[in-house]
Amino acid sequence: MALSLPFDPIRRSEEAEKMVMRGESRLFYKFRAAPYYGGIATGDAIGCSFLCAYCWNHSRNENPSRFGNFYSPEDVADKLLEISRRRNFHLFRITGSEPILGEASFRHLVKVIGIVFQESPHSKFILETNGLMLGYREDLADQLKFWNLLVRIARKGVDPASFEKIAGVRREFFTYPLLAIKNLASRGIRAWPAVMEDLFSKAEINELKKTFRENEIMAELELECLEPYPFVLENIRKRGLSIRG
Ligand code: SF4
Repeated sequence: MALSLPFDPIRRSEEAEKMVMRGESRLFYKFRAAPYYGGIATGDAIGCSFLCAYCWNHSRNENPSRFGNFYSPEDVADKLLEISRRRNFHLFRITGSEPILGEASFRHLVKVIGIVFQESPHSKFILETNGLMLGYREDLADQLKFWNLLVRIARKGVDPASFEKIAGVRREFFTYPLLAIKNLASRGIRAWPAVMEDLFSKAEINELKKTFRENEIMAELELECLEPYPFVLENIRKRGLSIRG
């Protein structure tokens, strides 16, 4: 069923968590060796608190319960570790979704990271998140104090209006991802922002960088590139967004 936009992402988190969690197990649809970051063991999970125009996992995140299979944290870690051994990778991630929707998904995530680091202590885990929950619930960051965890927080807009249009969620939640970076930094957890470069002008990106500096966020802004699947281009058009040349 199509979601009515813009929606409340906290409520959506609760709904999505109910669909993608069964006890400690979460819905995943694929495990793979991905070429990003120079080679990374990747689990593709389902379920998000946002519904971004450019999400390459849009249909699964819109209707999570139609897809995938449930995997325990032990199963997920085993699959990722098997890929890393086979491909000699030292990086791990979960993608295609928001890893932190609520208590159950957060416990699942922390357990996966814990097992991966126990078995592969010199590796790194990149937590890719939209930053909503890590900004909304400051206490969660306390449980993420793994020395080799890196957190990448996707900034969906340069201001509340573009955030609402791109992420499909109400604009008043714009500040939470920013708070997330601050919460993590104050605990010594390495985090950096990323933004989809193709949707903004240079001036808008510079304005965003200025906002980070004003908030004493010194981490470099990662510029993401759009995956131009036909359905992504169609969703961007439907939201009234345009790609900058
Ligand atoms: S936050 Fe990421 S996973 Fe969630 S809808 Fe946006 S692009 Fe997709």
